[in-house]
Amino acid sequence: MQALKEYEVTEDVSQADVIVINSCTVTNGADTHVRSYISQVEKSGSGAKLFLTGCGAHTKGESLLKEKRIHGVFGQSEKQKIDSLLKKKQPFYEKGDLNHIDDAVVGEFIGKSRAFIKIQEGCSFRCSYCIIPYVRGDARSMDEDRIIEQVSKLALNGFGEFILTGTNVGSYGQDTKTSLAKLMKRMSMVRGVRRIRLGSVEPIQITDEFKEILDEPWIEKHLHIALQHTAPKMLKLMNRRNVYKQDRELFEFLAQKGYAIGTDFITGHPGETPELWQEAIQNAKALPLTHLHAFSYSKRDGTPSAVMKPEVNGKIAKERLHEIEALVQEKNLRFRESVSGELEVLVESFKGGYYQGFDQHFNKILIKSDEDLLGNWITINDYDIKEECNYAHI
Ligand code: SF4
Repeated sequence: MQALKEYEVTEDVSQADVIVINSCTVTNGADTHVRSYISQVEKSGSGAKLFLTGCGAHTKGESLLKEKRIHGVFGQSEKQKIDSLLKKKQPFYEKGDLNHIDDAVVGEFIGKSRAFIKIQEGCSFRCSYCIIPYVRGDARSMDEDRIIEQVSKLALNGFGEFILTGTNVGSYGQDTKTSLAKLMKRMSMVRGVRRIRLGSVEPIQITDEFKEILDEPWIEKHLHIALQHTAPKMLKLMNRRNVYKQDRELFEFLAQKGYAIGTDFITGHPGETPELWQEAIQNAKALPLTHLHAFSYSKRDGTPSAVMKPEVNGKIAKERLHEIEALVQEKNLRFRESVSGELEVLVESFKGGYYQGFDQHFNKILIKSDEDLLGNWITINDYDIKEECNYAHI
């Protein structure tokens, strides 16, 4: 969007002369979604010219172009040239460079107080079910000075919370002889930086150096550490680098420090027998988890998991998903009940009569107030703990 200068953006698709589809390719479902969106535009008879970009450009761009269903395809690295690409008269396919690194570090803002900072792209892991490394390339880091420069500018403009994002955030710095902990320490020294949050990291990326910054006041007291599974045999099948026993030790260590801990989990990956599921759920019960981002397995062609057997029935995978979700929801409630002391909340939005924000443990709180709290940092002592979230009246 930042590179798009010569076009006016409309929210109303029927008004558009040009439609750029920024596609995802994480699952087969995402691919199908792009195709059905294209059919929808074709049927509408609007005559809009269609372009495809994003990860999907690498997996399905060529075929859609051959079928003459889109006018042009361009990869992630070519987005900076969007203005000139959209003007091309002839159909084109500019795949771009998979090793490209975007220097527009700042991606998105929420309100006027939280900024998302992209610090790296790509992933050098090869989890069996995941297509991302094939479409995003290996991990590469943004230039640290450039990140600090951007953070400084944003902090000067009133941003207090910074969320570090990327494909595999924890691999930051491995290619540039620095590290996530070093970057975060430098960021924390920028005047105005109040809280730093991280996207998902891998257990092995919580290094000794990282452990040293855990008590700093500027780090969010919540970490999202991707496990994906808790049965050792499943972790092997999924070609994960984490090991359950060590994951448990790490989580217990973080919990003792007062951290809320979230994880990613996939249910129903091929090979997940009822016995392995039982083992997984027992192991999950033993973990001090507070947040969960779980999915039931979705096949992605071109990945090793796509041909693994035996497959798990979709309905069973969904049941398992609900089981683990209910478990972590219960754990989250227990965690909130155990929190002592004040909540440090950044108010992000106002919906249905409530201000909404997240505290230092990434727990949601809904606040009733006659004052305009939007964008404010507030300290809350008195609040009610309900099953779905916390509530306060100030
Ligand atoms: S670490 Fe994440 S992005 Fe990388 S291969 Fe595994 S699931 Fe995909």
